[in-house]
Amino acid sequence: MRCQACKLEVPETRNVTFYQNIGVLIIRFPSSVEGHFCKACIHYLFWKMTLVSLVAGWWGLISLVTNCYFVINNVVQYIPCCFMRAPSGVPDTSPNQPTPHGPAFERIQRHHQDIIVSLEAGEPRSHVCERVGDRAMVPSSEVERYLRAYIDPQ
Ligand SMILES: [Zn+2]
Repeated sequence: MRCQACKLEVPETRNVTFYQNIGVLIIRFPSSVEGHFCKACIHYLFWKMTLVSLVAGWWGLISLVTNCYFVINNVVQYIPCCFMRAPSGVPDTSPNQPTPHGPAFERIQRHHQDIIVSLEAGEPRSHVCERVGDRAMVPSSEVERYLRAYIDPQ
């Protein structure tokens, strides 16, 4: 089973749709994301889209109405996901500790296979972090963080 957001093999995914609304008087900027996602990604997407809606979603007449629906929808869809199994190796995170996501994370993820193969081949961990960091154009400490969260907690 593969998560459509992080593309990792995970024990459980769930089909969810989250909405986000930004209201600027008479203009609205609604967006949504839909797919089969793992627990970590659902967690990340829920907080990102719901927090933006809670802050910026109310400023308009239509926005006021649709945003109520959006926020309620997000919460209703999120609650059952709290009971999902987390991807293996990923610690069950609380809202204060988001799993590594974002542009740096995505760049490292493209080298996921390379990281695993190199580690299995016995390449020193620090060496792998350095090399993948160079290639993904992120600090090696970010690669180390990725490693700890997704591959090898040691
Ligand atoms: Zn995912």
